[in-house]
Amino acid sequence: MKLTLRKLSLWACLALFPSLAFAKLNVVATIPDYGAIAEEIGGDKVKVTSIARGTEDQHFVDARPSYVRVLNQADVLIEGGAELEVGWLPPLVTGARNQRILSDAPGHLVLSRNIRLLEVPTGPVDRSMGDVHPYGNPHFTLDPENGKTIASTIADTFSKVDPANANVYRSNLQRFNDRLDKKLAEWKKLMDPYRGTKVVTYHKSFDYFLERFGLDLAGTIEPKPGIEPSPSYVNSLIPKLKASGVKLVIIEPFRPRKTPEYVAQNVGAKLLLLPGSVGGNEKVKDYFSLFDYDVAQIVAALKEAK
Ligand SMILES: [Zn+2]
Repeated sequence: MKLTLRKLSLWACLALFPSLAFAKLNVVATIPDYGAIAEEIGGDKVKVTSIARGTEDQHFVDARPSYVRVLNQADVLIEGGAELEVGWLPPLVTGARNQRILSDAPGHLVLSRNIRLLEVPTGPVDRSMGDVHPYGNPHFTLDPENGKTIASTIADTFSKVDPANANVYRSNLQRFNDRLDKKLAEWKKLMDPYRGTKVVTYHKSFDYFLERFGLDLAGTIEPKPGIEPSPSYVNSLIPKLKASGVKLVIIEPFRPRKTPEYVAQNVGAKLLLLPGSVGGNEKVKDYFSLFDYDVAQIVAALKEAK
């Protein structure tokens, strides 16, 4: 019997023992930050796969076609929405032909619907300029308070799709929130001495973080989200940044370095490579270590800059 079983493929095993296939809720997250929070809430009741890597630009993810099959097996799909994934997710979902994750299915979660988005345009939306934030800023995971909203929305969805384990999801949510509240107080204490410090970022990706911890965004290397800077834009930016007394130029490790280095040098600021996502470097393994790492890096850089 042992020998015969060994010869069976995984698929044959699942056909013989269909309960194995449903032992865990099969969750797919578009970016690793949602995936990390889903793991906190789901614990051992879920299997989580994240499509984007933390080292990628979330707007331009290299979504391999193999994810079609992953999505075909999903019980839950977690996306950010506000057009964060518009450039790469829709063809995967269409190809997956999975009713459980189609829009309006209980297993399809769009997180931005429950978040107070920053920079929501008041006028008509015009994408002709290539702005990748047409409905507001979609990088909301970088405020830990939003992390709590994301966690509770995920817990609701898991409970709806898998009511038998609703109690587990609820108690995991409570534990996550308690831990996050404690950590947030620590992070705020570390950042408090630097409130009002002027910084520059490459993309408008750290805005929620800056708002939560009281840093001021003096400008961005990109003239608009998703638009590469021209030399004339950079040359007009530098005197403005100099006048405002910018201390840090913050960029994710995957951004091009040349222009940020040039800007940092010319305004007398320090260039800081800062992951904006779980998995952004090898030290940032989950939602908590993302803030542990980023806060420590900023504090160390500003201590030096004083
Ligand atoms: Zn963006």
